[in-house]
Amino acid sequence: KEKGRDRVQVYQSSDEQLRKHAKEMEAVHELVDALKEQRLLLHRQEIKSMVGEYSKYFEVLVRMKNKQGDIVPPIEFIPAAEKYGMIVQLDYWVIEHTLKGMANEQAGNHYSINLSGITLANKELYQHVKGLFKTYKVEPSLVSFEITETSAITHLDSALYFINNMIAFGCSFALDDFGSGLSSFSYLQKLPIGTIKIDGAFVRDMDSNAINRTFVENIKRTASAMNKKVVAEFVENEHIEALLNEIGVEYVQGYYIHKPELWFEQQKL
Ligand code: C2E
Ligand code: MG
Ligand code: MG
Ligand code: MG
Repeated sequence: KEKGRDRVQVYQSSDEQLRKHAKEMEAVHELVDALKEQRLLLHRQEIKSMVGEYSKYFEVLVRMKNKQGDIVPPIEFIPAAEKYGMIVQLDYWVIEHTLKGMANEQAGNHYSINLSGITLANKELYQHVKGLFKTYKVEPSLVSFEITETSAITHLDSALYFINNMIAFGCSFALDDFGSGLSSFSYLQKLPIGTIKIDGAFVRDMDSNAINRTFVENIKRTASAMNKKVVAEFVENEHIEALLNEIGVEYVQGYYIHKPELWFEQQKL
């Protein structure tokens, strides 16, 4: 259309694009139904403190149950939800149910919640989230939000508005998948996040890949200089945990440490 009327643009992979589009549309419809029919569920994965803290830390990970009852991982519906306008509703659902879960649990556990960049750009996010904290009477210092470099950078103003207000409210922030996106140390310095989560791609083979090990060491050194803590994700064996311990990384997360586990299903609340 941009190039004028009566033109046909031929794509080599149009079949493939159509199939991809159909799959995404299906995923979004599934998600809309899942929200209505209470077929979303929350898993949680424990994050281990290497610095001898008493409190427990978990990351909240959303899943969808399809009509057949199979569990669908977020990679299969989050990108489509972002593309077709469903992600804010999904992230709101996760925040609300995490706070509800924490209120039921009354255990003083810390939870971190993933936020899409699109959600982060939403002007009402701060008021909405603050309202949920009041409703469920959850202590803000028990909650942190995981955002990605790319999302924070593309919506820097609204990201900073939400982050600064939530920090004043008592929550904290982690920069997720660090090193994998549009990385930039100058942006890292602009964001008042307390924790850097090193992308699992650099961690999972650091026992055999000296370059990745050096990269992890350097992120840890930089984080310390900036007074930020570090979480390493995708810790898949004992050797990697030992290396991270030597480096002084504060938190480790991964299948070797704890597998993600079912926290609760929507209908059970
Ligand atoms: P993430 O935030 O980087 O979460 C870590 C992902 O790595 C999770 O996948 C987790 O199950 C997986 N993982 C944990 N330990 C290991 C390990 O040792 N090895 C390997 N190979 N993988 C490990 P999951 O649950 O499939 O989530 C994928 C992504 O979906 C998350 O990446 C996050 O970006 C997104 N996501 C999950 N829940 C939510 C949510 O509630 N809202 C939003 N916006 N995004 C979410
Ligand atoms: Mg995360
Ligand atoms: Mg991550
Ligand atoms: Mg990741």
